[in-house]
Amino acid sequence: MGKPTGFKEFNRELPGKQPVEQRLKHYNEFVEKFSDEKLNQQSARCMNCGVPFCHNGCPLGNVIPEFNDAVYRKNWKEAYDILTSTNNFPEFTGRICPAPCETACVLGINQPAITIEEIEKHIIEIAFEKSYVTPKKPNLRSGKKVAVIGSGPAGLAAAAQLNYAGHSVTVFERDDAPGGLLRYGIPDFKLEKWVIDRRIAVMEEEGIVFKYHSNVGINVNINDLLREYNAIVLAGGSTVPRNLNIPGRDLNGVHFAMDFLKQNNKRIAGKDLLANAIIESNILEKELTATGKT
Ligand SMILES: Cc1cc2nc3c(=O)[nH]c(=O)nc-3n(C[C@H](O)[C@H](O)[C@H](O)COP(=O)(O)OP(=O)(O)OC[C@H]3O[C@@H](n4cnc5c(N)ncnc54)[C@H](O)[C@@H]3O)c2cc1C
Ligand code: SF4
Repeated sequence: MGKPTGFKEFNRELPGKQPVEQRLKHYNEFVEKFSDEKLNQQSARCMNCGVPFCHNGCPLGNVIPEFNDAVYRKNWKEAYDILTSTNNFPEFTGRICPAPCETACVLGINQPAITIEEIEKHIIEIAFEKSYVTPKKPNLRSGKKVAVIGSGPAGLAAAAQLNYAGHSVTVFERDDAPGGLLRYGIPDFKLEKWVIDRRIAVMEEEGIVFKYHSNVGINVNINDLLREYNAIVLAGGSTVPRNLNIPGRDLNGVHFAMDFLKQNNKRIAGKDLLANAIIESNILEKELTATGKT
């Protein structure tokens, strides 16, 4: 526990946000950074509870009081090691997780909860700045090959863990880039896409192979995968929208979120929407011809 009286001395604070008039001019993230002093104060609020309910509140089981303590002592390497012992991608969760850990925080019973998510984000960003995040290649390869279908957070986490275990992993993604909904669902103002690219570069260095425009069941044959790989992970997510029967659903301009967000995120990334659509329709046409369905 960093500072036994911390929770009495400091109030919960969050980093500042860019003024609205600036935010209106771009699509990027707008939450500013904590200063070292603020980070120190916010981590000092953690009480290191006898039963840290935040552990269970976090779906990953992050060991939160321990990394808060390391942050208070400004031991960034230790904080990074603790955080990544349970979390493959703190730079994603630190930006977009709904933070059920904070709802479970004991201090939240009668005071505002610890700012766990922001602390998490700062630990990983500082770790990247200080070059603690380096590719972790397995010492031994098992000789087994695993295909991961889908490069959303589920596929990426499975790929990372299987690779650490020594298996040779190939990720098949039907889209033109990795990340699943991280890339084409969640807008840049919550998660800028260089954050995904930075992580993919580390994973590639670790030996994971990514194949894009590879739509399993369309232009990649599942039987070929079954022959070539020892195991297959299905991490295709779900892009099936719920067509809610609510007043106004039929009005002009009311669209499914992903129909709008996907093309908008591609546009913001500077992608050629027409070229993308042509590639996708060529893949489909090839498969239909190959299977005699045209
Ligand atoms: C608009 C929106 C906002 C969201 N905001 C948040 C948020 O703020 N915080 C939060 O925690 N969660 C949020 N979510 C939810 C979160 O994004 C999802 O829970 C998460 O992305 C699911 O991960 P996944 O890996 O299972 O699937 P996905 O992210 O959907 O990834 C699946 C991947 O598999 C690929 N794929 C599918 N079929 C095939 C195939 N046959 N061959 C090859 N590739 C295939 C897809 O192209 C996709 O890239 C949001 C979701 C949406 C839609
Ligand atoms: S914000 Fe981080 S620590 Fe909290 S629940 Fe999400 S992943 Fe877990």
